[in-house]
Amino acid sequence: MALDATSFSPSANEPVVRVEGLRKSFDGNVVLRDIELSVMPGQVVTIIGASGSGKSTLLRCLNLLETPDAGHVWFHGADLAADHVNVNKLREKIGMVFQGFNLFNNMNVLDNCTLAPVTLKKMSKDEAEQTAMRHLEAVGLADFAHADVARLSGGQKQRVAIARALCMQPDLMLFDEPTSALDPEISGEVLSVMRDLAAGGMTMVVVTHEMAFARNVSDELVFMDKGVIAEASSPDEMFTAPKLPRTREFLSRYL
Ligand code: ADP
Ligand code: MG
Repeated sequence: MALDATSFSPSANEPVVRVEGLRKSFDGNVVLRDIELSVMPGQVVTIIGASGSGKSTLLRCLNLLETPDAGHVWFHGADLAADHVNVNKLREKIGMVFQGFNLFNNMNVLDNCTLAPVTLKKMSKDEAEQTAMRHLEAVGLADFAHADVARLSGGQKQRVAIARALCMQPDLMLFDEPTSALDPEISGEVLSVMRDLAAGGMTMVVVTHEMAFARNVSDELVFMDKGVIAEASSPDEMFTAPKLPRTREFLSRYL
């Protein structure tokens, strides 16, 4: 049944996002197949796996940055394959944070945060600024509101990117290796913001190589290998008793 995706309606006992039989190929190369995934409200699902295993493509299928070849993605019960899904409305409800920050470097921190709420959500400038200040406070950057983005450190940029995404009041946050471009000693400040966000009840899908985060913060851990979900379980189970030799082999690289 095709639902009107302009009225995504959250419900506590229904998945925020559900993927069934997802398949995606590029130029005849199948990079995702038979993907089944369900993320409940407030859940943190972390995806791990080697480079090239399809993690980014899967994330990008969740907000239609990529179009699946087959299968279904439901967001709050609305089938994203339905013709009349409003992709812009969908993306307002799904925040995404990438490895490369993707901030507007010619604007200050506050303007980065208020641009989308003012232009897309028609929020008043005042309200958008108040909202932005609240989120900048939460990521520890209220004092930098008027600083030029270009002058921030990588960790600060990534915290701005998170605050900016939160200003749209998303129902789901996607993180694609948010700390991979950062020095290890800087990664912690970003991971700690993500941990706070998870503790505050945000629904999150996180692609990361940070195994401490994967183990301590996720509710569910997903191991991808060559385009399939090879294994999915609680983090404790996956770390202490992985079912597959390839999972064990992958995890052993981080021990
Ligand atoms: P991961 O994030 O796990 O490193 P990706 O999802 O980025 O993996 O990539 C999975 C596979 O799909 C890789 O082989 C990659 O080269 C290929 N791929 C990803 N995006 C594209 C694209 N836009 N065009 C062609 N091939 C792509
Ligand atoms: Mg990737």
